[in-house]
Amino acid sequence: MIDKGGNPSAKMALVACMDPRIQIKQSMGQSAGDAFVLRNAGGRVTDDVIRGLVLCTRLLGVTEIGVLHHTDCRLAGFSNSELVAKTGVDLDFMAFCDPADSVLADVAALRSRGVPAKPSASEAAFAASCGRPASR
Ligand SMILES: [Zn+2]
Repeated sequence: MIDKGGNPSAKMALVACMDPRIQIKQSMGQSAGDAFVLRNAGGRVTDDVIRGLVLCTRLLGVTEIGVLHHTDCRLAGFSNSELVAKTGVDLDFMAFCDPADSVLADVAALRSRGVPAKPSASEAAFAASCGRPASR
């Protein structure tokens, strides 16, 4: 454990979309208010997110990881080539169509890298964030 005079007591980490409409504390309840939160466009699992979560789980005592994607995400509904054309920047934007599918894909990506994400936690997080489960 790292303890530099104020080791956070959080045992949870959350990967979430950077959309300001997503209020983590309101969506997840008080327990997530102290969670480590890693946010980016779409709440996608990138190499940098994996880097943060490896540190969280191996050095900071995090035991539960949630992945939070949401309906009406501004990253959803575009293909990557459409986003490249719209932005003029050739990147992998990790676009997706269905946030329920992208959550499961990102949980699988975390597990494949040895990060112990739980599908039930991520599904609960997703449902809490948008007030209803995504259609399949
Ligand atoms: Zn979003």
